[in-house]
Amino acid sequence: MGRTRLDFLRMAMRIFVVNCGSSSIKYQLFDMADESVLAKGLLERIGTTTAMLHHSTNGRRGKGQIDLQIAAPNHTAGMAVILKALTDRDIGVLDSIDDIDGVGHRVVHGGEETTASSRIDEKLIALIRRNIDLAPLHNPPNLAGIEAAMATIHHAAHVAVFDTAFLSTLPPMAYRYAVPNEWHTKYHVRRYGFHGTSHRCVTLRAAELLGKPADKVNLITCHLGNGCSMTAVAGGKAVDHSMGMTPLEGLVMGTRCGDIDPAIVLRMIAVGMSPAEVDTALNKAGGLLGLSELSNDMRDLLSAADAGDANARLAVDVFVYRVAKYIGAYFTILPSLDAVVFTGGIGENSTPVRQAVCHYLARLGAIMDETRNSQAVGGQTGPITADGCKLPVWVIPTNEELMIARDTAAIVGPVSH
Ligand code: ADP
Repeated sequence: MGRTRLDFLRMAMRIFVVNCGSSSIKYQLFDMADESVLAKGLLERIGTTTAMLHHSTNGRRGKGQIDLQIAAPNHTAGMAVILKALTDRDIGVLDSIDDIDGVGHRVVHGGEETTASSRIDEKLIALIRRNIDLAPLHNPPNLAGIEAAMATIHHAAHVAVFDTAFLSTLPPMAYRYAVPNEWHTKYHVRRYGFHGTSHRCVTLRAAELLGKPADKVNLITCHLGNGCSMTAVAGGKAVDHSMGMTPLEGLVMGTRCGDIDPAIVLRMIAVGMSPAEVDTALNKAGGLLGLSELSNDMRDLLSAADAGDANARLAVDVFVYRVAKYIGAYFTILPSLDAVVFTGGIGENSTPVRQAVCHYLARLGAIMDETRNSQAVGGQTGPITADGCKLPVWVIPTNEELMIARDTAAIVGPVSH
């Protein structure tokens, strides 16, 4: 009899999940028998002699935390330090690197060819490389991480999990921009979307919690963190999404502006800014930071707004208003709506932001339960609306690393230890 996917996952399999940025490696090592995290950490400032490794373990030799300054000239050197920590005699959780059964890599952009999660081979590396143009800040470090891990963890299968994959089901009506056709055919100008693994994670969990088959659930999922995006999900599939060709479009974010009139870019260039300066302003000095002139962190803005800071109040109001507007738009295009889901740092923790969004949703049938809303913080899952109301709103913490680990385990298949 064939094994089910769940059987594979229950086996004593160790999956190492890697998420590489240009100067950082985030990682988690999972024991798939119970999906527990044996070790996790962050190596920052790669490319310097003062890189910092923050590594914590929860293995059979007990819990531990180390913060170590090291030289890490590149991702390969960084990966070697991380693997040493995982197998260290005192703080390690593995006897040897050979105990890693699979490595799951977060890859940001698969372009128009985006596939489901797949085993990494020459062809897949070429695909990631072909799409560097579309994700110049993300795909190169993702590739560096893949190369570094493949060079050291030879024996294990390496799997790429694409951030864009869950959003590859958007219909042309949602992904095409009304620009000259040639911009699409020749330059691949279209909506791709991002945060797909997070939206997939909370979609699957919401279906479970709502007692619906995963291919029948209709949702609006709101990932509100430093980066923010929303997805309209019909029958378990993404049908629209707020981020665009780049992560700049859509909601107001920590430092990204979200939707603006594209003519503003031309105007700012006409008044003397260079395209690079406008790019930096819109990505790094816009959003909550730009409006408030204070911070990109929602916690700071909420306390400043409470203390009477008008710019901070406006930043929070614009943020909330934009989320509510998108929910209204997605409500209109979905066949029906089972729930709105909040996730991400703000979505999972910010009682006042959720309350303010839900205030707009009253006419759609969301009746907020204030006790539930104030208790749904710090990783709690649950509805924040009253039982039986027409539009339930849920808080569901995201876990992109676990999604990557599950996909990797399913592709690696059974192992014997
Ligand atoms: P990223 O997009 O970088 O992964 P996160 O999902 O961790 O970010 O979200 C980070 C943001 O979450 C912070 O910038 C902060 O604004 C917000 N946040 C975290 N905790 C709270 C909280 N208790 N209340 C309000 N906002 C919070």
